Amino acid sequence: MGNILVFLEQADRRLRPAALSAISLSRAIHKASGGKLLFVLIGDSVGDAAKEAAQFGADGVLTVEAPALKHYLAETYAPIVARIAKEQGATTIAGCATSVGKDLLPRVAGILDAGVAPDVSGVVSAKQFRRAVNAGNALQTIEVLSDVVVVSGRQTDFPRAAASGGSSPVTAVAAGAIDAKGAEFVELQTQKRDRPDLTEARVVVSGGRGMKEGKNFAILEQLCDLLGGALGASRAACDAGMVPNDLQVGQTGKVVAPDLYIAVAISGAIQHLAGMKGSKVIVAINKDAEAPIFQVADYGLVTTWEKAIPELLAEIKKIKSAS
Ligand SMILES: Cc1cc2nc3c(=O)[nH]c(=O)nc-3n(C[C@H](O)[C@H](O)[C@H](O)COP(=O)(O)OP(=O)(O)OC[C@H]3O[C@@H](n4cnc5c(N)ncnc54)[C@H](O)[C@@H]3O)c2cc1C
Repeated sequence: MGNILVFLEQADRRLRPAALSAISLSRAIHKASGGKLLFVLIGDSVGDAAKEAAQFGADGVLTVEAPALKHYLAETYAPIVARIAKEQGATTIAGCATSVGKDLLPRVAGILDAGVAPDVSGVVSAKQFRRAVNAGNALQTIEVLSDVVVVSGRQTDFPRAAASGGSSPVTAVAAGAIDAKGAEFVELQTQKRDRPDLTEARVVVSGGRGMKEGKNFAILEQLCDLLGGALGASRAACDAGMVPNDLQVGQTGKVVAPDLYIAVAISGAIQHLAGMKGSKVIVAINKDAEAPIFQVADYGLVTTWEKAIPELLAEIKKIKSAS
């Protein structure tokens, strides 16, 4: 087998949690295939993030810096990753299946004429991977037959890697000619939230259609703030305009696997479960004892949120003030 090249996402001079999941994926592949493990970081100033990446036991960390690479564009990043893969003799190119990874990696595969294993949840061998299908109800094992394999890992299935110490050599690689092929970065619209990102939070509190109105989510936000968590929602709640669409958890929303997931007034449709059933502890609050969410819940409260949440808030505050 050849070498493994891992694309690491970074922002604000730090590795993103997705990069740590990509490292976990690559370690599993490395165990199966051997070869050199190489990380690549691209941007306009990636030095600090590269130093951080150097502590994860790779054979080398490659950096590509240029002002034109400040903002991610698949058109500019994909040819660079593909070129470096060829230069470094990489036969596996890996990353995390984030929105960036899902955009970038198939393009890299296109350039390299490689097969893709997208959004995998496990590594069987260097070319065989496990992935969830049918809204997470079945696992398939897929084999990539091409010489070069491009693989993206589902962030929730690959825990954030811990640094292994040491310091890998960091090497700057020339960006070469950058051609955005007519694509242009216009602006990044982000919502500044004080809470953690939904896909990275250790606690997620989600509300469903049973919350009835958008303003009722304020009480769930209080719970999030007490627990240091992120707010999520079912599709029905998003579609009804109660909360923004980017809070949607599920098959067609975000996939989360926090330590604690609290589902409030959510029935537990299969498409919602597909996005949260990997959570370590699931708490469900629903007035209907027959709601399917109770089938996956570790703890269930059959009651209304109007009764349960104020009591929960009062108890948590009491415990917090006592400690
Ligand atoms: C292709 C496809 C993709 C989809 N993708 C997603 C997805 O990504 N994410 C997703 O969530 N859904 C998705 N759906 C929709 C999914 O099928 C469900 O319709 C949706 O999850 C239902 O949301 P809900 O549980 O909030 O609403 P409902 O099913 O209406 O459930 C509301 C729940 O609230 C409870 N309730 C009502 N009042 C109270 C109260 N006062 N206190 C406590 N409990 C109360 C009720 O008992 C009920 O169980 C998808 C559907 C399709 C077809």
